Amino acid sequence: MQKYFHSVKLDEQKCKGCTNCIKHCPTEAIRVREGKARIIEERCIDCGECIRVCPNQAKLALTDGLEKLQGYDYKIALPAPSFYGQFKPEVSPSSVLGALLEIGFDDIFEVPVAAEAVSRAISAHLQQEHPRPSISSACPAVVRLMQVRFPALLEHLVPMESPMEIAGRLARERAVREKGLPPEKIGVFFITPCPAKVTAVKQPFGGSSSVDGAISMTEIYGRVLRRLEGRPVRTIDPQSSGLGIGWGSAGGENEAVKTGSLLAVDGIHSVIGVLEEIERGGLDDIDYLEAQACTGGCIGGPLVPQNPFVVRVRMRNLVKKHGSRSKAEFPGNLDFYRLQAPIRPRPVLKLADDVELALTRLEEAEKIAAELPGLDCGSCGSPSCRALAEDIVQGYAQRSYCIFELRQRLQILAAEMVELSHKPPPAMGREWKQSREGGGHNG
Ligand code: SF4
Ligand code: SF4
Repeated sequence: MQKYFHSVKLDEQKCKGCTNCIKHCPTEAIRVREGKARIIEERCIDCGECIRVCPNQAKLALTDGLEKLQGYDYKIALPAPSFYGQFKPEVSPSSVLGALLEIGFDDIFEVPVAAEAVSRAISAHLQQEHPRPSISSACPAVVRLMQVRFPALLEHLVPMESPMEIAGRLARERAVREKGLPPEKIGVFFITPCPAKVTAVKQPFGGSSSVDGAISMTEIYGRVLRRLEGRPVRTIDPQSSGLGIGWGSAGGENEAVKTGSLLAVDGIHSVIGVLEEIERGGLDDIDYLEAQACTGGCIGGPLVPQNPFVVRVRMRNLVKKHGSRSKAEFPGNLDFYRLQAPIRPRPVLKLADDVELALTRLEEAEKIAAELPGLDCGSCGSPSCRALAEDIVQGYAQRSYCIFELRQRLQILAAEMVELSHKPPPAMGREWKQSREGGGHNG
């Protein structure tokens, strides 16, 4: 079986088995067994929903630390578009970029610059023949969701690399060209708003990643802020346009793509609703779907430090201020942006590899599900009665995990015990029965 890297992990010590997370997971990847949550590796898409909803901070995102920079001679930071909106309006993007150079990086390549370039590539793609709607491949959690739950829709994905990947590639090429360094001596680090991007770096969809590590935005934000509060820092003139920066919040990608009829959806459960609609054959009047797993877009990622509603306003102002054309040059050749390999399904929701066995299990699971109470209470540790039924037929759970079933069985058992207690042992005669009924002997 294929091994999967995951940036979302469980801290078993902190987990209280409260079952809060199991019902929010979009791929039903969590079970609670023996009082602790368990993540089913093959199903998890690293969307970070469980990080948000756990009241005990028992789910966490593994990211790279700044110490990883030490392994390289030349270190390049890739700030995500959502990073720009984390700072108060009086802090200019030029001083934020300057501060990045003072916390350990030698160079910066702005991901919004790459986002603008990718927008143009998508726009050119949409003018060619394409399945309707074409779906953005920029959010790795949405792409993995499609691999797991909507494999039939994978052909709708725009076959373009994400702005992060393009930024990484352009940054390394520039450093090789300008500094004369061998590529392996250059470390390229994305400042990430979410765990899904960490997974995209560690286990890319196809080929290899142009990025060497992903560091949490909250960690970098704290360091940059401390640097800005201290002595004055260098400033770097941002190259990004408002179109590229806008990618950081929901709807911004469409603003930059600007081709045909466009739909934007954010929040993983809303994304599922729209993908279901496409699966049913709807939405063929839409050319392009921007879909982001986090509510509000990347500014709503689990690793951003600031309130997404506040950031949304700041982003809007930055978009206006930075105009509609980047100062940077980027390749015009469409092939430069194409995905290195097609994105394949991850068939993990089937009940068995053998088709005949899978069908038998399906029938059995349907029968069990119909007999379960249908309350989807989660007390069994599975996210729904249907999921428990599937767990049972796969041998991962028992019917007695359902507390209603258990209670019913106990009631039947109790009734049987009462009935049994009234039955005479075979060796006893009529007198025993009379004594039990209160008749007894009267002398
Ligand atoms: S929400 Fe999930 S991970 Fe958090 S304590 Fe409850 S069961 Fe454990
Ligand atoms: S990260 Fe998302 S897919 Fe993975 S277990 Fe948490 S909620 Fe489920």
